Amino acid sequence: MLTTPHLTKDELIKRVRLAGVVGAGGAGFPTHVKLNARAEVVIANGAECEPLLRVDQSLMENAADRLVLGMGYAMLSVGATQGVIATKKHYHGAVEAISKAIQGLEGLSLHLMESYYPAGDEKSLIHEVTGKVVPSAKLPADYGCVVLNIGTLLGIADAVESKPVTDKMVTVCGDVRQPLTRLVPVGTSIRALVKSTGSSVDEETHCVIEGGPLMGKLRENWDLPITKTTGGLVVLPRNHPLILKTGMAVERQVKLAMAVCCQCNMCTIMCPRHALGLGVEPHKAMRAIANGNSALLGDVNGVLACCSCNLCTHYACNFGLTPGTVMTNLKNALQKAGVRPVKEENVCPDPSLETKRIPLSRLLARMGLSKYNTPALFVEEPLTVKEVELPFSQHIGQPAKPVVKTGERVRKGQLVADVEENKLGSPIHASIDGVVNQVTQNALTIRGQEE
Ligand code: SF4
Ligand code: SF4
Repeated sequence: MLTTPHLTKDELIKRVRLAGVVGAGGAGFPTHVKLNARAEVVIANGAECEPLLRVDQSLMENAADRLVLGMGYAMLSVGATQGVIATKKHYHGAVEAISKAIQGLEGLSLHLMESYYPAGDEKSLIHEVTGKVVPSAKLPADYGCVVLNIGTLLGIADAVESKPVTDKMVTVCGDVRQPLTRLVPVGTSIRALVKSTGSSVDEETHCVIEGGPLMGKLRENWDLPITKTTGGLVVLPRNHPLILKTGMAVERQVKLAMAVCCQCNMCTIMCPRHALGLGVEPHKAMRAIANGNSALLGDVNGVLACCSCNLCTHYACNFGLTPGTVMTNLKNALQKAGVRPVKEENVCPDPSLETKRIPLSRLLARMGLSKYNTPALFVEEPLTVKEVELPFSQHIGQPAKPVVKTGERVRKGQLVADVEENKLGSPIHASIDGVVNQVTQNALTIRGQEE
């Protein structure tokens, strides 16, 4: 039987909000809002969607009991009777640790997945675990599910004990001396984290993709900070094909679409959201872009249902085109213009969906990343850094507003920026002891005190 200290739902949600817990897996949706839903099943997303990253598997292996505790709180909050920890079969250490941690606990189970991309996409994961497809304009909770990332569940367990989010587990990998999965204070610079691998690489010769190789963002400026949502840094030589493709100017992408796209349809055939029956058709977006004619775009719902996994760009298209970026740019433009998806019912996934799954090993080979697919040493002790930069917007919703001033001394875990309780957003806490060095419109910096 899963036991958690007695807490009311309101108290639990309050503690999670105060601790600044947000979705640790990418978008940074405030977790306390998710915990306010009603659902029958909580799914822990331990698929580690992006290749090369090792964060979720390391956390599951090394903090399985805390993860189960976090699951218990999440289930309590949403009223779920089932908790499913979904991970990949070949994460042997994680599977062993979780199996042990859930032994004899009613309502908790392990769901083992094959190694394919994007196994961690929320809609794909819900389909894999429950057999249901969440259509456009619907939420997972409408289908009885809440999905939470592994780091988020650990954040919930900490929040209940009044420990705010101050550190983040990040994998730093690629062309570095010692790939690491390590805990760093939120706000640590990319430069400091790369340096901690023992490598002397810098921006002259290398680029960093923050996030994973497929969905991450190119970072030319290594002074930028690690945030609550950073899962990985992939360091690659500037002339690596992935860097060249990820950094390609939009104008060039459009020119290539006009000159090269043969409408072969492979990007749509291999699109995982298309296979779920969500009407995502990137070849039509390429057609519309190439012809400068939005009437050729097809179903707008389909554009809005793209999850930006970039499988179409990095695997499906044989001509080096970027349908994933084109879809993402169109989706962002539509959302900015206030276009919302139309409600759909009776979505039918492709019966051959499973045969379309792309094994990670093939994807990595296609992307020229196989040689970087190595273990990343797990380091639990937080990295010691002299300065951190804490952006006020590390989450979806309103940016936090500073509640400290330049020159003020702060302790690790102290609230430094907050969001009004009735607004969507999440507070920010000091991640090191020190003095507030600067407060700008977008961020504050804390300089550690010399001993
Ligand atoms: S973007 Fe590539 S895969 Fe898609 S239709 Fe054009 S050529 Fe084919
Ligand atoms: S990025 Fe490409 S493959 Fe991924 S969901 Fe969007 S259109 Fe489909």
